[in-house]
Amino acid sequence: MKTLNFSHNDKMPMIGLGTWKSKPGEVYDAVLTALKTGYRHIDCAPIYGNEAEVGNAIQEAIQQGVLKRSELWVTSKLWNDAHRKADVIPALKKTLSDLKLEYLDLFLIHWPVALSPGVMFPKGSDDFLSLDEVPLTETWQGMEAAVDEGLARHIGVSNFNLERVRHLVGNSRIKPEMNQVELHPFLPQEDLRKGCKELGVHLTAYSPLGSKDRSSAIKKDDEPLLLEHPAVKRVADKRDCTPGQVLISWALHRGTAVIPKSTNAGRIKENLESSGVELSVEDMQFIAQIGPEYRFVDGSFWAMEGSPYTMAGLWG
Ligand code: NAP
Repeated sequence: MKTLNFSHNDKMPMIGLGTWKSKPGEVYDAVLTALKTGYRHIDCAPIYGNEAEVGNAIQEAIQQGVLKRSELWVTSKLWNDAHRKADVIPALKKTLSDLKLEYLDLFLIHWPVALSPGVMFPKGSDDFLSLDEVPLTETWQGMEAAVDEGLARHIGVSNFNLERVRHLVGNSRIKPEMNQVELHPFLPQEDLRKGCKELGVHLTAYSPLGSKDRSSAIKKDDEPLLLEHPAVKRVADKRDCTPGQVLISWALHRGTAVIPKSTNAGRIKENLESSGVELSVEDMQFIAQIGPEYRFVDGSFWAMEGSPYTMAGLWG
């Protein structure tokens, strides 16, 4: 498995298992299957509501001798209601307790959006805190404290535009090492990729397959089907692999980590085997032209009436 280099010579496996929308009762089997299949990177978050079950599967795999803790890369995230500096470590300790781990390999600020303590999703303007009230640099100091206390080996961000990454790099004691964002051929984000590379910040591609299992509340009826796009299918036929493998391999060829979600044993294996799919420069260019641009997880839920957040502010 190819890896990305982090500080202290740590290495993140470039393919990880996504766990958003992996239901309780299914995610245990998915994670255990993934670890037995050879995954060494799991992407989690407390807002996914399944970290305790993910933790049970990790613990079981370690007890069965499938792997050692030191061979596994676990990423989790800080939810938006814990952005005050004093709230970061308690939130992280809850995640660690659920995952039954002593440390995270990577801890990310999930969104550049702050909510009042205890608010999972905002119902009205009172549920938001603005970034003037809780600046991201304050949240970052809490993240740095997590590293100081040995609770997180590396820290980073998610859903940050380039301007925000740049500002944080210039205003931090411990630099962010990762920005986890939506990336796929409908949203290649080439400027963000180039800019983060210059800043020494890695990217992880989320929703690499088009996130088709999102609930209808956050999904548009007419959204494009990435896995069924003719260009993706054509390359899959040419390379004798599946459309999913083309998309995962496309992310790897761009130098990003990629975290496809699946709870299906066959697809979990298929997705890991994408690391063996070679794409030519022509294949990469052919896929890159598929537009038009489309963002599946568009963050519009943070831009409701009365919110201090706007779509333009989020994505730049
Ligand atoms: P995704 O990985 O793009 O797509 C998941 C969907 O694709 C599921 O319906 C899955 O179904 C299906 N699938 C998986 N492998 C397949 C294959 N080889 N062929 C055909 N279909 C396949 O969507 P995602 O869950 O949005 O993104 C992946 C992960 O990124 C998340 O789980 C989460 O860990 C992370 N993420 C982070 C953020 C953030 O804000 N930081 C936002 C979104 C996502 P089955 O399960 O039935 O296989």
